[in-house]
Amino acid sequence: MSLTVYSKALYSTWVYYSPDRILFDCGEGASSHLENKSFAIQRVFLSHGHADHISGLMSLVNIRNNAMGDREKELQVFFPAGNHFISELMTYFSRTNRRLRYHLEWIPLTAGDRVPVLGGRNPRHVEAFPTVHASGETTLGYNVLEQRQRLREEFRELPQEEIVELVKAGRRDEISEVYDQKLLTYGGDSVPLRPGPIQETEVLLHEATFLADEDRKEYKHSTLDEALGAAQAARVQRKLVCFHISSRYRRELSSAAQRVKDMQLPFEVVLIPPGDVVEVEL
Ligand SMILES: [Zn+2]
Ligand SMILES: [Zn+2]
Repeated sequence: MSLTVYSKALYSTWVYYSPDRILFDCGEGASSHLENKSFAIQRVFLSHGHADHISGLMSLVNIRNNAMGDREKELQVFFPAGNHFISELMTYFSRTNRRLRYHLEWIPLTAGDRVPVLGGRNPRHVEAFPTVHASGETTLGYNVLEQRQRLREEFRELPQEEIVELVKAGRRDEISEVYDQKLLTYGGDSVPLRPGPIQETEVLLHEATFLADEDRKEYKHSTLDEALGAAQAARVQRKLVCFHISSRYRRELSSAAQRVKDMQLPFEVVLIPPGDVVEVEL
């Protein structure tokens, strides 16, 4: 189970989440790096329509049609409803790929929409939430949610034997509740994410285009400190993965990583070096 991340601001961003066979965004190079794994992808979730997040779709769609692999597996592409760039791309695909061997489906989403995904023992969904990035274009982030069961708060202090007795007495539904655990959050490009929709996620992918606030000319992207702040406010449980880092900072990354380490945050922080394909342990 892993997360494969490639991200270089302005050039390309794509993230492959293997447990649910999801590709988040599809910047250039996605299929040439993923090779055979391109056939494993079942769903692509696009955060927005900027070229660095969609320019790999043409080769992904094509490679699944022509390379060795299961060419009949359908591919679903989810995107922010009404996004102008993606609508143009759909028209292009409909005109140039009339003889696809598999079913390619484009599905518009709005914030709050839920899509059932592969999952494991427990059902899982991807849920869209709003982000703030490009004016005039709808942009979305995504949470991977797993349905779990836990004891209701008033029963959590009970000794184990008493709980077993209650279950034996057929009172399981009374003492437990179903909740959604956020396993992963992908924020796409955005100014700092608001804590509400990403609260207590296990792994947060937050963009950190700028290391220095003074380098930011327009308020469309986040700084590293803002990504750290968003993760703290949301009480991220395990890991913060900072991506979309500008390549101008390549040489400063190790000192930035050291500075973050010295902060002794309650979660691990991974900085994705621009231009590297990074396997992140989940
Ligand atoms: Zn971008
Ligand atoms: Zn963008």
